[in-house]
Amino acid sequence: MKEANEEAGAEPVSCHICHQEIPNAEALSVEGQEYLYYFCGQGCYEHWHQQNEPAPSVKRQ
Ligand SMILES: [Zn+2]
Repeated sequence: MKEANEEAGAEPVSCHICHQEIPNAEALSVEGQEYLYYFCGQGCYEHWHQQNEPAPSVKRQ
């Protein structure tokens, strides 16, 4: 069992495409209509973007 890490930006998230775990601070995040998607990098974001148009704005954390 993992210990919770409450430090801002240190909480791991998993990439929406490849499911790799990445630190929240390094993830690309995209706000969907009701959900926040995380991507490990531009490649996975673009893969998702091709299947989800129009894409919401992306921001780096
Ligand atoms: Zn990925």
